[in-house]
Amino acid sequence: MADFDPAAIAKAWQFAENAHSGQTRLSGEPFIDHPLAVAEICAGFGLDTQALQAAILHDTVEDTAVDLEAIEHEFGPTVAELVDGVTKLTELSFQSRDEEQAENYRKMIVAMTRDIRVILIKLADRLHNMRTVGSLPKQKQAFKAKESLDIYAPIAHRLGIHAVKSELEDLAFATLHPRKYQEIKELVSQQRAEREEYVAEAGRILSTELESLGVEAAISGRAKHFYSIYSKMSGKAREFNEIYDLTAMRVVVDSIKDCYSAVGAVHALWKPLPGRFKDYVAMPKLNRYQSLHTTVIGPEGRPLEIQIRTRAMHETAEFGVAAHWRYKRGTESGEGIQWLDDAADRDSNNSDSVDFLTALKGDLFEDEVFIFTPRGEVKSLAAGATPLDFAYDVHTDVGHRCVGAKVNGRIVPLSYQLRSGDIVEVLTSNRDRGPSRDWLTLVRTPRAKNKIRAWFRTVERKDAEQTGRESLNEALKREGLPAQKIVGSSLLADVTREVGFRRADELYRAIGSGKVSANSVVQKVLQRLKQGEAAEDDASAAEALIREGRKRDRPAATAGRYGIAVADVGPDVMLRMAKCCRPVPGDDICGYVSLGRGITIHRTDCLNVDNLSKDEGRFTPVRWEGQADTSFRVELQVDGWDRHRLLEDLSRTFAETGINIVEARVTTDEPMIRNRFVVEVPDTRTLELAIAKLRQIDAVFDAQRVTPSSG
Ligand code: MN
Repeated sequence: MADFDPAAIAKAWQFAENAHSGQTRLSGEPFIDHPLAVAEICAGFGLDTQALQAAILHDTVEDTAVDLEAIEHEFGPTVAELVDGVTKLTELSFQSRDEEQAENYRKMIVAMTRDIRVILIKLADRLHNMRTVGSLPKQKQAFKAKESLDIYAPIAHRLGIHAVKSELEDLAFATLHPRKYQEIKELVSQQRAEREEYVAEAGRILSTELESLGVEAAISGRAKHFYSIYSKMSGKAREFNEIYDLTAMRVVVDSIKDCYSAVGAVHALWKPLPGRFKDYVAMPKLNRYQSLHTTVIGPEGRPLEIQIRTRAMHETAEFGVAAHWRYKRGTESGEGIQWLDDAADRDSNNSDSVDFLTALKGDLFEDEVFIFTPRGEVKSLAAGATPLDFAYDVHTDVGHRCVGAKVNGRIVPLSYQLRSGDIVEVLTSNRDRGPSRDWLTLVRTPRAKNKIRAWFRTVERKDAEQTGRESLNEALKREGLPAQKIVGSSLLADVTREVGFRRADELYRAIGSGKVSANSVVQKVLQRLKQGEAAEDDASAAEALIREGRKRDRPAATAGRYGIAVADVGPDVMLRMAKCCRPVPGDDICGYVSLGRGITIHRTDCLNVDNLSKDEGRFTPVRWEGQADTSFRVELQVDGWDRHRLLEDLSRTFAETGINIVEARVTTDEPMIRNRFVVEVPDTRTLELAIAKLRQIDAVFDAQRVTPSSG
């Protein structure tokens, strides 16, 4: 590490002056004034020779023909890296005004920084640009001011550089709200003399007291910056006069012990306001700020805010991270061109600053990388993330359809590791290609990994299901069975249950993945079909049973017998149940007055009701009421595999549930059989019970009531 080197600074100055020659700022000044002013601010921070060189050179790569190689060649790799870092931050363009986005953006800036000096130079750059913001067009002024408030002042605050934070805020405030700024400035200056006199008087009293205690102290008044007054007024909706910490005193002492002695003296002299004492010495703020804060009722009975700190704490409070360089050298900040001479006295050992940066970064985020979406949003991903992680972060579907990626406008391999500040764009295919196996080794985030695994699991499941379905079909055909009809039949459903599955897709998957053999399933199907054949011989018995049960169509009966109430008429009115839809107690019904035949009861969903409804006047409201004294006829359809004794089983089931078969019609469609029954039931509950029992019968696929709605 070289000591401070005026010749090296002069060389950078010369180099930058040549590079920027002929360029002027918008204000008309020579461009070189800007980098020199930035370097001066950095010198105020106490930065070392290399940082000052980089500050002087910071705009050469961005704004002139000079490239990084030339800088590295002339000034070495460290200076080139610093310039590169500042250039990259300058190239970032932040659009969003979203608070969360601003937070991510600030993190991105810190994450992109490998050397804390880059941020300090950038802050100095921004500070000088804000000091001279007046020469920019109005719109650009507002943009820079807003960005300073949203991004740079908070970073300065985070780094504990109070001096830069306050000045940036006041400059931005003056730019964005010139009238408010002027107002507060006038209010502050009106009372300045009075306030200074007040603080001076209190200072004399305290000073005497501290002297008697043997504590050496430098006491000064402290001006609050305008933006913080404005924030307090607008944030807490308070009047200017209500902000009592406008009047503030700062006491700088030699040691931590003296801090506590001093605060004791203060509290002995004046009554402290409850809840206003804060010990940031024992418990420093995150940005390493240390001080004792208290507010007391001062000499004239007016509140007085007092901060007590050591000189080292004061340096940290004003210059934060930068105080690291400053305090070690025990120097004051230079004025004008004087800083060159001052800087010459400093040694430039900055190894600690690396630790500081590491601590700062670790503090903010452990393993994150911050990137831009093509629309300028900032996203955070796990460090080491690839464009695939980003794709899956956007949307699962974007991930599955990802075919490539562009970073900063260039195509990159999917294995590219994203870096903070990258602008990432995912290229997708319209075709549903899905991920590839090796993506699992490329992605870093759990989200992306899980999504890819889930995709393969689904595919495998679908594959197994398809394979299983095909091999069962083949096995059925080998036995000469009609695969098409068996698949989806209740016979297969029974076999499915028999081998321990609830649904057909589960059985197919088991067959497809080899857990169950297709042949064993086919054997069980055959077994059931054979049982059916053995029963067929007794079919005639069943037919006899049906014939016995068959009765002629019944004539109309009274409404009372059917358990139906008809509006405006008594229970003796003659009713008949429509044969087209055969209503049963529990169905939604309506009454149609037919000439000379009484009232016909239809289900409301009967197609004939639709047809008759032209004649609306002939409908009369009816409803189920009380117990029916008769049974109701309904039509049932029962489909099954044709097997011996099937009809017998069916008719026995009807008999067991107390249902008469009135009519039966059987059609065969090898190897299926379709049975239509007209039966008499007392109510829908009994009917439902019967249907459930019918469905249990071996070789029956389905049993259902035939209603107008079931077609
Ligand atoms: Mn600049």
